[in-house]
Amino acid sequence: MPPPGAAGDPITVGVLALQGDFEAHGLVLSRLGAVVREVRVPTDLDGLDGLVLPGGESTTMTLGIERERLADPLRAFHASGKPIFGTCAGLIMLDREHLGIIDIRAERNAFGRQVRSFEAPLEIGVSGGPVEAVFIRAPWIAEHGPTVEILAEVEGHGVAAREGAVIVVAFHPELGDDDRVHELFLQSVRDARAAA
Ligand code: GLN
Repeated sequence: MPPPGAAGDPITVGVLALQGDFEAHGLVLSRLGAVVREVRVPTDLDGLDGLVLPGGESTTMTLGIERERLADPLRAFHASGKPIFGTCAGLIMLDREHLGIIDIRAERNAFGRQVRSFEAPLEIGVSGGPVEAVFIRAPWIAEHGPTVEILAEVEGHGVAAREGAVIVVAFHPELGDDDRVHELFLQSVRDARAAA
């Protein structure tokens, strides 16, 4: 496997580890050759090349971010051009009504509650065909601004999007063994680092 960094230092990616399935993201990122750091307090962001906000429960995550005073440091991380990847509850955390890092409004539990956990093949523009996307009490993108590119839809609602260095998906790419969505994110991390 080629080293994930352009040259020299390996890519270091943070995973917000206040709550949710951060460990599964860490395993995928390590498997792809990144150095992984769990992020719990603002100083954990120092020196990272990119950051993942995992799935979980967005109300609990909001309280954790307030408790650790992470909101402004996370916005500053984004403002510095570092790529951020939000999945499921992580997508919600990044929206207009939470951290305001991507110009979308997420609708929580949009497919209904427990009954609407499902898997679907989803074409999101990675090579090799559709990914098998696992949705668990997932949000969808109810509204978005003009600079947001919707990458995939289910039932006419956006479930994957990109704006600048921010990628969000409503499903759980860390479950299963298809690493292509994380690879898409890592490529944006490599690109941002090469441009910096
Ligand atoms: N329903 C959860 C929330 O609103 C998100 C679900 C998930 O991350 N799997 O926070």
